[in-house]
Amino acid sequence: MKDKKLEVSAIENGTVIDHIPANVLFKVISILNLDKIDKQITFGTNLISKKLGKKAIIKLSDTFFIDKEINKIALVAPQAKLNIIRDYSVVEKRIVEVPEEIIGIAKCMNPKCITNNERIVTRFQVISKSNVKLKCHYCEKITDQDHIEIV
Ligand SMILES: [Zn+2]
Repeated sequence: MKDKKLEVSAIENGTVIDHIPANVLFKVISILNLDKIDKQITFGTNLISKKLGKKAIIKLSDTFFIDKEINKIALVAPQAKLNIIRDYSVVEKRIVEVPEEIIGIAKCMNPKCITNNERIVTRFQVISKSNVKLKCHYCEKITDQDHIEIV
């Protein structure tokens, strides 16, 4: 008899995003546009993690991301880890990395910024990667990790 629990939780091919802080799960979902894909998605949140307290995990069947997409995750979940699954085994582990420049993903936290008042794509220079800090190209205000809003 097959283990039913395993059948539900294991994926044959795809990507598992682990070590997402529980409070940013839905931000990660929106960054990767996971609300729009038609593949099987399983996620769990408020799971116990020694490292993060409470973590979330996302399992995506038959879905693989390019580096650019993976690195967007770092904006809200710098400790996230990706496991690439082929034939039920982890064939690759990926660590997310904050890119040097962020274009059109985050919102500037300055309400007076031109990007919040006109149809201009946001653009930031990353000035800190460990605790993410973004410097707006237009108004030079700093948006920190706690205030990052995804557009
Ligand atoms: Zn700005």
